Amino acid sequence: MVVVMEERASEDQVQKVIAQLVEMGYDVHRSTGALRTVIGAVGNNRKADPRLVEMLDGVHEVLRITEPYKLASRTFRPESTIVNVGDIRIGGDEVIVMAGPCSAENEQQVMSTAAAVKRAGGKILRGGAFKPRTSPYSFQGLGEEGLQLLRAAANEHNLKLVSEVMDASQIELLERYVDIYQVGARNMQNFTLLRELGRARKPVLVKRGISATIEELLLSAEYVLAGGNMEVILCERGIRTFESYTRNTLDISAIPVVQKLSHLPIFVDPSHGTGRRDKVAPMARAAVAAGADGLLIEVHCDPDHALSDGAQSLFPAQFDRLMAELRIIAPAIGRSICLEPVARRGWGQ
Ligand code: PEP
Ligand code: MN
Repeated sequence: MVVVMEERASEDQVQKVIAQLVEMGYDVHRSTGALRTVIGAVGNNRKADPRLVEMLDGVHEVLRITEPYKLASRTFRPESTIVNVGDIRIGGDEVIVMAGPCSAENEQQVMSTAAAVKRAGGKILRGGAFKPRTSPYSFQGLGEEGLQLLRAAANEHNLKLVSEVMDASQIELLERYVDIYQVGARNMQNFTLLRELGRARKPVLVKRGISATIEELLLSAEYVLAGGNMEVILCERGIRTFESYTRNTLDISAIPVVQKLSHLPIFVDPSHGTGRRDKVAPMARAAVAAGADGLLIEVHCDPDHALSDGAQSLFPAQFDRLMAELRIIAPAIGRSICLEPVARRGWGQ
């Protein structure tokens, strides 16, 4: 259930409600909004009588959360969540772009791609050091060396860093390098990993599984939230359908669906969503027009020689052009997209 406190409820009243819920056997999650405090009570105590809470001083109303996910639902938190990564606000008015190579390959590749990402207005460098490849014979990533290269490039270009964690045993290592942990599509239901990330103190980007429903995606986010980590970003990256022209079918409708059901930011990955370089820009434009909070895009300084996902990686010049287009689209729906580089370079003259 969710307990919505009155606007002027005192701290003492909030504490009494929390104590009552704990006594009833619930796990309690407090969310302090601009106007009201909302307390989420999660647990299986079917016999608990909500009236015991309803009658406490300072309680405005008690709602039952009917969705199977609780903390991820808009009922629990009506206001959209902002995930802060340093000075970057994810889930606010600005559309945030994470971009970079599929995998870190070598110093020159990571550095020059990071420079291109920064130049075009990307805020977060992406890149895999541990790669979940369909074939065990494909390039599996550089491991810690890859993380070192990515971190150095992110620092050099004043970017934040997101990279995939494939297993709970890697969390400690990644913690030293990344700003955001990425949970890949194939790991969306690795519940041990999700639970451990619930204890982590850095944001987690959870990608939709290849054949996962939106409800399953939200339940995976719930594992992280239930562990106490409220900094979760969701990512639509295409699902497997009967269509074979594209690598996956990018579900643009997931954006408004998630935004109705959940307060968590929703990103779109048009690279894995289509698998084809020429389809990335149109789908990125569609995602921003549909209200995505951000994009995750593969960019490579030399995609034709990439060790993974070259066919869907943009050339730096294509990424540059795409960002310029997004700067025209975003304001049409009341959003913005990094403007600094435009001003510096006098773009449009
Ligand atoms: C990736 O982002 O490089 C990746 C492997 O994505 P996904 O998990 O969506 O396939
Ligand atoms: Mn990839």
